[in-house]
Amino acid sequence: MQKYFEKMYKDSENNFHKLVKENIIAENKMFIVTANPETLMIAENSIDFKNVLLDNKTTIIADGIGLVKGSKILKYNIKETIPGVDLCSKLFEYCNELEKSIFLFGAKEEVVSRLKNVINSNYPNAIVCGYENGYVENKQSVFNKIIELKPDVVLVALGIPDQELLIYSNLGKFEKGIFVGVGGSFDVLSGFKKRAPKFLRKIHLEWLYRLLKEPKRCKRFFSNNVKYIFRIRSCKNRRKNGKNR
Ligand code: UDP
Repeated sequence: MQKYFEKMYKDSENNFHKLVKENIIAENKMFIVTANPETLMIAENSIDFKNVLLDNKTTIIADGIGLVKGSKILKYNIKETIPGVDLCSKLFEYCNELEKSIFLFGAKEEVVSRLKNVINSNYPNAIVCGYENGYVENKQSVFNKIIELKPDVVLVALGIPDQELLIYSNLGKFEKGIFVGVGGSFDVLSGFKKRAPKFLRKIHLEWLYRLLKEPKRCKRFFSNNVKYIFRIRSCKNRRKNGKNR
């Protein structure tokens, strides 16, 4: 567990957004994983996904209060959450300001095409150089197209861990680009799904809102989060007893 926290971004959301903007301007390559406790638990059961998270090229941000709390218990002190959906909006804003290009890959056809329209009307200088829904059979062929287009920002909404595995396996074929696995963000930003009201977000109960809206998530959520709490506690105890991992 500690190895994930060691490398997780710990500074403020504002500073992270600034860093991303600098990387867009410098045409650096950056791969961002927006993680929550479920992400870490999935990685603990999949060596491929674990390698993706622990690779030096991967930046992990805490898109869930559970990770911030866990980091405090283990004394890694992550300052605050950096929600993936807000990161997406910032990326649209930066692409608009800097006249940069975006490729949108994932979600249902009506969702991703509506999101393209939303970007075109709200961020007129951002260039949506292409989009594709996430239900096509051959996802690698979509990435082959993305490689040719060389976008400045590539957002992939296929769910954890598929989106991250696909990005990671193609990362070496790009020379620049900000790559982010964004889960359900397209559904929210296109207007198809509502985000939790601000007051719930402020008290870090967005997860509860999501569970109430989509009860089918409950099983996965609770099993992973209970496991996570046990892992954090056992990590803390091992640390206290002088063992490292
Ligand atoms: N999705 C997709 N193709 C698939 C499976 C899922 O495009 O084969 C999309 C789905 O429509 C949704 C997103 O991936 O927009 C996953 O959202 P979810 O909130 O479930 O993400 P997670 O919690 O797994 O990150």
